[in-house]
Amino acid sequence: MSDDPRPTSAEEDYLKTIFGLSEWASAPVTSSDIAAELGVANSSVTIMVRKLVARGWLTHEKYSPVSLTQEGFRVALGVVRRHRLLETFLVRELGYTWEEVHDEADALEHAVSERFVERLDALLGHPREDPHGDRIPGPDGTLAETRAVRASLLDEGHPGVFERVSDQSETVLRSLAEAGIRPGASVRVTAEGGLVAEDGRAAAGVNEDVWLRSGPHEGCRLPQAPFEHDDAVEPDDAGGR
Ligand SMILES: [Zn+2]
Ligand SMILES: [Zn+2]
Repeated sequence: MSDDPRPTSAEEDYLKTIFGLSEWASAPVTSSDIAAELGVANSSVTIMVRKLVARGWLTHEKYSPVSLTQEGFRVALGVVRRHRLLETFLVRELGYTWEEVHDEADALEHAVSERFVERLDALLGHPREDPHGDRIPGPDGTLAETRAVRASLLDEGHPGVFERVSDQSETVLRSLAEAGIRPGASVRVTAEGGLVAEDGRAAAGVNEDVWLRSGPHEGCRLPQAPFEHDDAVEPDDAGGR
């Protein structure tokens, strides 16, 4: 690309955060969202947003939400790719648990080179998802489509395949781990805002942070839209084993 200096760690964190805030929500990202997510003062966000606009990575009109430019999106996806590959490495090869990896990956993602990341990707066999079920962007900056919906939008008894959990809440990650619920597991939504696995183990109060590929079930109380039932998803009572 151009001979612009590489983004600083702080710039990378902002771009990654802005991408992350919009990845699973359709609402526009505001400066106060960024401040809350990063735990910094609004005035710091204002200064950094101005810098990122000058770098050509953000657009921002006064009193309006911010958005990534095409180039900003590309830089953000690069950081996200490093972060998620590092998380995968820490869990698979170094035996970290999924609630431990986030901070470690946050530090490492700014230090590793492009070459390191591509070697890591090859070593891991080009994974498509990280341990939380988050999509790993390709080296060309592509991101796979997903049809997952937030579990809290589904009715009690609704079946689905666990696709993704936000890596932000340690409590949620721990409850899911204790119930043995991982990406790829067949689950149902419970009355307690949680999930129950096929073996009957359950995690309560997690569904704001969990996304499922939704399956069909009899007596579903949800309108069809926006829940696209995925018929490829087997309901877990379709014939036992
Ligand atoms: Zn993750
Ligand atoms: Zn339903």
